[in-house]
Amino acid sequence: MSAEQCSFTPSMYPGRAPSTLSVIAPLVSFAGSPPAPAGPPAAPRGPSLRLIEIYASVQGESTFVGVPCVFIRLAGCNLRCTWCDSTFTFTGGEHREVDAIVEDALSFGIPLVEVTGGEPLVHRSAIPLMQKLVDRGATVLLETSGSRDIGEVPQAVHVILDFKPPDSGEERANLWSNVEKLKTKDEVKFVIGSRRDFEWSRDRVAEHRLDQRVGAVLFSPVWGKVEPKALVQWIVDERLPVRFQLQMHKVVWPQDERGV
Ligand code: SF4
Repeated sequence: MSAEQCSFTPSMYPGRAPSTLSVIAPLVSFAGSPPAPAGPPAAPRGPSLRLIEIYASVQGESTFVGVPCVFIRLAGCNLRCTWCDSTFTFTGGEHREVDAIVEDALSFGIPLVEVTGGEPLVHRSAIPLMQKLVDRGATVLLETSGSRDIGEVPQAVHVILDFKPPDSGEERANLWSNVEKLKTKDEVKFVIGSRRDFEWSRDRVAEHRLDQRVGAVLFSPVWGKVEPKALVQWIVDERLPVRFQLQMHKVVWPQDERGV
């Protein structure tokens, strides 16, 4: 138990006056350990995050596709999608302070910055990270899985929310209360691995009227699972109010290349 957690109240010690407790507590806490040597006070540390990498490339998805962008990739994810191409984010990473990450990202001189992962919102400090980037004038994108609450994400951030169809194996993780928190400039993405995924995504768009709620609804094929032209045909056949997209970096760079 830490000192902050240690809270004595008269009701916990019936019959003892509070003044007695205030004397006893220090005696107990120092018993058997010498006082710490005096020294300079530790420098204050800001919030930190577990960082995988920061790099500059072009945006591969969303309505920002093709635009130069700095990517801040954070470690850790609460999901395990069957087709995940970012498994290297699940473990490892380097602890970095938020302010240092902001400086590194802005040093590229590119005004568009995406915070991605893994799942960035498993880190509480992702919120101040995005706020500081916004405060410094960046246009900030957040790529999030749809399984974490977006309620605290700064309003200036463009949220790209990735709801998970059944073939991902993570359908149950979708947090549908996020729909109410989406802004008109946000985007919703469905990564589709089969005809079943397509129909499920189509039905969720209609059920939540997503096309009327956000700036774009994106349908993207799982690379190697659904033929892009098949998905295009399904969208056109059903006259869906969605935008087809390819994960552009999969076309431009070899599949396993990092930092692209
Ligand atoms: S949410 Fe993203 S990073 Fe996490 S398992 Fe799914 S695809 Fe991978």
